[in-house]
Amino acid sequence: ATQSYDDQNVFAKILRGEIPSRRIFEDEFALAFHDINPQAPHHVLVIPKGAYVSWDDFSARASEAEIAGFVRAVGKVAREAGFVAPGYRLLANTGLDAHQEVPHLHVHIFAGKPLGPMLA
Ligand code: 5GP
Repeated sequence: ATQSYDDQNVFAKILRGEIPSRRIFEDEFALAFHDINPQAPHHVLVIPKGAYVSWDDFSARASEAEIAGFVRAVGKVAREAGFVAPGYRLLANTGLDAHQEVPHLHVHIFAGKPLGPMLA
């Protein structure tokens, strides 16, 4: 079921420039900025520009162009930041059990140290 989108969520405000963020990339489809509470030496969030609550909402409703543009942007951010050779981890928490806190889709990029095995 599609959740309704809350346009007062913190990432909507960041997209509109109503609250500041340390932006590192922006194009037609995506915005990337540093996480305010980094969990790794490099911790970047990439969000689609469209109003999507979660990975589930985005994958169900977004256009092919939005999906392609967003996936390309995530890859480009990691590549341009130099994360590819040492390696990086992507994470998209979805829903309550995953502890998604902000109801606008965001992909976390973690890098900058050996990250260890995936936690379950
Ligand atoms: P989630 O738990 O929803 O997957 O992750 C939300 C992330 O957003 C957290 O890592 C948190 O530190 C980050 N975050 C929350 N509020 C802000 C903010 O105002 N600015 C930035 N840059 N990051 C935020």
